[in-house]
Amino acid sequence: MSARLASEARTPCINPRCRRTFKADDGSGEIICGKCFRGLPEAVRAEHRGYWREIRKWDRRIARSGEELKITRMHAVRGRLSWRLNMHWDVEIKARFVSPERPEGLDAFLEEIGL
Ligand SMILES: [Zn+2]
Repeated sequence: MSARLASEARTPCINPRCRRTFKADDGSGEIICGKCFRGLPEAVRAEHRGYWREIRKWDRRIARSGEELKITRMHAVRGRLSWRLNMHWDVEIKARFVSPERPEGLDAFLEEIGL
């Protein structure tokens, strides 16, 4: 019974005022619906898409490469991009919906924590 409930669980859009949900089967945990995403400033959307574009580019390179050493280095690059994407998600996207005041922005935040 609990397994059945789990398989039917749905992930809500990160906007608490939005009622859309998604099938919770990709394991990423957090999601934004297309409507809320389109409501974000263009610069934020462009940066988010930019990280994904870079990550997919490195995924393709990793898949094509046959050299172990290169693959290890490319995984490190991809890991940093993935980290930046997650930071951007938390600071520039999620924070807009979960905290009432406007976030400072990723660059200001990274500066503050010394990166
Ligand atoms: Zn939404």
